[in-house]
Parts: sequence; C-alpha cells; structure tokens
Amino acid sequence: MEFEYTDEQKSIRDMAHKFAEKEIAPGAEERDQTGDFPYELFRKIAGLGVLGIEAVIKALSMDQIKILIYDRNFIHKGYICPTCMYMTIISREKCPYCEGELIAYNDIVDEIIESALDKGCEIVDISGSKRLTEAGSIGAVLRYRLKE
Ligand SMILES: [Zn+2]
Repeated sequence: MEFEYTDEQKSIRDMAHKFAEKEIAPGAEERDQTGDFPYELFRKIAGLGVLGIEAVIKALSMDQIKILIYDRNFIHKGYICPTCMYMTIISREKCPYCEGELIAYNDIVDEIIESALDKGCEIVDISGSKRLTEAGSIGAVLRYRLKE
C-alpha cells in the first residue's frame, strides 16, 4: 500500500528535523547520560517520524506507527467516533467518515496509547523530558519512509 504525504506532514517532518539539529548539536552524549529523552530515539523521530498529537493521530489512523513516544503526564481533550474509531482533537459534531456522533474525551492520549497497543506498536513513556514537552509531548517513529 502506498501512502501520499501532505504538505502539512512534510512540514511537521521538516520541523522535527530542524528541532533535532538545533537541540542535539553539541553535548548530546552528556545529555544522554542524564537519562532524559534518549538521543538515539530522538534522532530516529527526526529522520523517520512525527511530532505532536495531530500528526500522531494521523499516523496511527494510517497504521504507520512503529514506536510511540509520549510524556506520561501529557493529557489532551479529543473526540472519537465509536463506529469507525476516527480520532481528532478538533471539536466536531459528526464523524467526517461515517457521520457517526463523536464522543468527547477529557484525555484522548489514553485512547491513542490503547489503540497503538492494539495495533502492535511499541510504546515508550517518558517523564519530565523538556525536549519531548517542547516537541509536543508526543511523537512516533514510523514504519515507512516518508517520500521526498
Ligand atoms: Zn466514524
């Protein structure tokens, strides 16, 4: 199955890449030893992944996620269609796919994690990483290479 990437996804990837270059540059090894967000994992996200809850939901819905990384204190409101499991953080009354009524959740992050587990993704939870929080508190390494 082939996936097309939208400009938005490309810009998220570019942002992640720039962020990684800026953040990782000097002293990465030292930071690694503090047990913060592992450098190696971050490098993978930058090269082959997405950052931020919207991008993660999109990738999850397309079964693209290999490893899901999130801050265990991160919560976010969201909406889920109980019929087709469509997820969004944007307030909508009806599901754009099946017209079903969306259910509001105070914490959609839990549902994202559960769905990722169901799909066989590896889950990495991290606590108190400034780097991860600044990147949107959630991210994922994808199974497929993004098209250039
Ligand atoms: Zn639906």
